[in-house]
Amino acid sequence: MLPQILKLTKELISIRSTKENPALLKEVLERALAEVGEFTVERFERNGCPSALVYYGSRRPKRFKIILNGHLDVVPGRDEQYQPFEKDGRLYGRGASDMKASTAALLYVFKNMAAKVDYPLALQLVTDEEIGGYDGTRYQAEQGILADFVIAGEGTELNIKNETKGVIWLKIKTKGRTAHGAYLWKGENALWKLMRILERLEAEFPEIHKEAWATTVNLAKVSSTNETFNKVPDQAEAWLDARYIARDKESIVPALKKIAGKEAELDFLENEPEHYTAPDNPFIRKLADAVNGHFGNEKVKLLKGHGASDIRHYSAIGVAGVEFGPVGAGLHTDNEWVDTKFLSDYYEILASFLKSL
Ligand SMILES: [Zn+2]
Repeated sequence: MLPQILKLTKELISIRSTKENPALLKEVLERALAEVGEFTVERFERNGCPSALVYYGSRRPKRFKIILNGHLDVVPGRDEQYQPFEKDGRLYGRGASDMKASTAALLYVFKNMAAKVDYPLALQLVTDEEIGGYDGTRYQAEQGILADFVIAGEGTELNIKNETKGVIWLKIKTKGRTAHGAYLWKGENALWKLMRILERLEAEFPEIHKEAWATTVNLAKVSSTNETFNKVPDQAEAWLDARYIARDKESIVPALKKIAGKEAELDFLENEPEHYTAPDNPFIRKLADAVNGHFGNEKVKLLKGHGASDIRHYSAIGVAGVEFGPVGAGLHTDNEWVDTKFLSDYYEILASFLKSL
């Protein structure tokens, strides 16, 4: 299967499918779909962002058993990166590991298995993962495209990523009363008010200096509209970037509100859900068995990730899923590659996983 996967991957890499090129997002999607063959293809589009859902049979089932999710957009790269080449068992190019090779592998696994398995299997191709996935995966989820289990082919070195952190961006704003800097008692200092809140914040979410699987809060900015020395500031604000683990999902917002107290105003700019699927989920167990069975060892690991993927859009509505992808490196860098031998393993593992269900 590998020669076909590599051929298609190279063709996909040569299309500059970045968000700056909406026409090429359509082109890369159509190029992939041309390879799928005789299946039902539903096309979607929101905000100029195309995506597709492919399945066997004429009618879309209420719920698929498995959705294989791949994104065909990439972050911008150097010109040369759109000319893929192979060297020493690696395929180089923009999107090689993130994630055109695995999307090609998912496509062929789907193509070869969808008519053979006795359950509904779907291939979901999207073109906006790198800018949040709102008009691709999330839009399709909003259209009622559901599954028991979703696999996104993000690179995981053939391990299984079942958890990533949620993200909250928040401004804490305080107000006071201006006065001349020599007559403090006539004013109320908004910056000191803010500082007292930040002290409580630091006590609750201390800075960490070693990687840890914990909820963290980064103090990104502190500012005031005051521009001079001899004035009591009547406005101040702090910008926070909170990254929370699944266990703290319910408690993080109340905790931040409590720390801010009644005197501050909170402005939540982002609240991106975490992704969490329990390690004992039966599909995770079967996928782990497929990996271990393929290599004849027990080496597959469950991973936690600090960064997010499209899986969070399904996790947010209670659909289980994982990131599972081949071995590669250099995503979003000038030197991106995917290992071709492991890409072949990736295809075979997915095929035996789908057979085992
Ligand atoms: Zn990706």
